[in-house]
Amino acid sequence: MDEAIYVDGRIVPAAEATVSVFDHGLLYGDGIFEGIRAYGGRVFKLDQHIERLFDSARAIRLTIPGTPEDIADAVVATCRHNEIVDGYIRLVVTRGAGDLSVSPASCLHPRVIVIVKPSLAVHRDPSAGLHVVTSPFRRNAPDATPPGIKSLNYLNNVLARIDATDRGADEALLLDAQGYVAEATVENFFIMTDRGLLTPPTSTNLKGITRATVLEIASSLNIRAEERPFTLLDVWTAREAFLCGTAAEIVPVVTVDKRTIGTGRPGPATARIVSAFATLVRSTGTPIYAGAAETAAVGGYRV
Ligand code: PMP
Repeated sequence: MDEAIYVDGRIVPAAEATVSVFDHGLLYGDGIFEGIRAYGGRVFKLDQHIERLFDSARAIRLTIPGTPEDIADAVVATCRHNEIVDGYIRLVVTRGAGDLSVSPASCLHPRVIVIVKPSLAVHRDPSAGLHVVTSPFRRNAPDATPPGIKSLNYLNNVLARIDATDRGADEALLLDAQGYVAEATVENFFIMTDRGLLTPPTSTNLKGITRATVLEIASSLNIRAEERPFTLLDVWTAREAFLCGTAAEIVPVVTVDKRTIGTGRPGPATARIVSAFATLVRSTGTPIYAGAAETAAVGGYRV
């Protein structure tokens, strides 16, 4: 089946889904997006993604054409059109076409785009655990480009990922301007210490929906969890560590800066959280098809 894309209220073949070269999303990274996943015919945490999209829009003073319900309907309709059962969804709102000024004043029509894919692999062999290095690039400061805005401007993350790849690592860990741990390039970061789970407060990173889910899961599993700043020393001496994000899901980290974390293998608390997460994603979510809880899939497509 040919891939179909939602652009501005229409679902069209991928070859016809285009944006203007004058779109400020292209010219300036002026726009916002969400990465969302579908599992077993349901979109996971769709309302939270739509809410965060509207929060990002408010922060950059972009008026999304449509209500949150309209945008949620567009996501579900695009999944349905592409017969998605399991898959990855990219929801993008660009500032729209304008003149060559950095000011968005001339951009009168923001564009809404929904792309869906039946699968997405973010890290090779994630179950063995990732090798992570600290990035020389500090995470964007909250008073520069606030990392809580999920904007189309990902150069900070791209630079960190290029450097990590050059150094033979799977992922980069970015610190904030003060040297506290912020997050990875497309994931939030957790460590497990003797006292329980630790993750940084969201002032220096994206308010991840998977992060919030992990905190809920930890509470249901009676694993103590704290949100407070911590340093690389805490990371290097942690019992376990993992990354979490919609695309990557929950991925164990086995080395950071060539220091072995715990036993050097994915840890037991991480395994419990991964297992609870796998159950949760397959038992909740916004249905794509009427009465579709038990939908069979081949390669992410409906059969
Ligand atoms: N941090 C960054 C920089 C990201 O791009 C992402 C992916 N959206 C995350 C964290 C994880 O957020 P979520 O769990 O909502 O996907």
